[in-house]
Amino acid sequence: DRVAHPLRADRSKLYMADLESALHYSLRVEAARASSLSGAQLTAFKCYVAILVKYFPGRPCVQTYLQTLDAWLRNWTEPELPRTVLKEAMKNNRDASHPSVLPTNVTWVGCQGSERHFRGYPCGLWTIFHLLTVQAAQNGPDKELPLEVLNTMRCYVRHFFGCQECAEHFEAMAAKSMDRVASREEAVLWLWSHHNEVNARLAGKGGCHQARGDTEDPKFPKLQWPPPDLCPQCHKEERGVHAWEEPAVVTFLKAHFSPANIYMDHAE
Ligand code: FAD
Repeated sequence: DRVAHPLRADRSKLYMADLESALHYSLRVEAARASSLSGAQLTAFKCYVAILVKYFPGRPCVQTYLQTLDAWLRNWTEPELPRTVLKEAMKNNRDASHPSVLPTNVTWVGCQGSERHFRGYPCGLWTIFHLLTVQAAQNGPDKELPLEVLNTMRCYVRHFFGCQECAEHFEAMAAKSMDRVASREEAVLWLWSHHNEVNARLAGKGGCHQARGDTEDPKFPKLQWPPPDLCPQCHKEERGVHAWEEPAVVTFLKAHFSPANIYMDHAE
């Protein structure tokens, strides 16, 4: 039985099963809906895969999978990429001397909802992009290409995220302030604070949406994250009003979204 009980997952950990499930879904399901990719949509897809190769801390077979797909996409110079051709290129190859495998099953652990239609993919996609912004900040010069990951996320969400309303909300937030991000560390904080803005907007709004995971799971109420039990030092009070201790938040995010904090349980 590969399905974990949602309330038993440790909220202070990341789970490789969530990350790989979200990767599989984002590449093979959401990005492969259109009968073909071209123009800005094809560019967005190529950028997403290229960023994953650079910053996703995957298992060796998954790294090989991403590298193989990236190399294949770089070779694809025609303006249009038919879905049938892309789907073939995204298949696993277990027989090669270096297996190239991204599991095709979807198993939610930390992102599992109390019911099927809650959480899952949207939770996994947030987690991937937080992890990527943090890895980009840890593995590159702070002032160079500060928007590398955020721009890729913005394009991916605009062109592929199945929740149209979410994509519009995210685009509105990005258009307002993303271009003021001046360093990789600021990019980490931008995504964190805007995710909290979404959490605040959705808090208490249960039960109105279709089966997309984009409403509040009553067992996982939306909160300003990380809550005090996960990071007491992230919180302070200024004249009786709650405030964030930002340097502590950065330290916390760098530790939380780090390869060392990813549990391998339930990964294939
Ligand atoms: P999620 O909000 O999905 O968070 C996943 C995990 O990330 C949490 O369990 C926690 O561990 C961690 N986390 C939480 N907050 C933060 C933070 N601030 N920084 C870092 N890590 C954090 N739904 C709508 O109904 N309307 C929308 O407009 C909408 N917009 C969305 C835009 C995007 C880009 C995405 C990816 C999703 C959007 N959703 C929207 C879905 C919604 O935000 C949740 O993903 C969904 O409701 C599932 O919530 P969850 O409880 O699993 O936690």
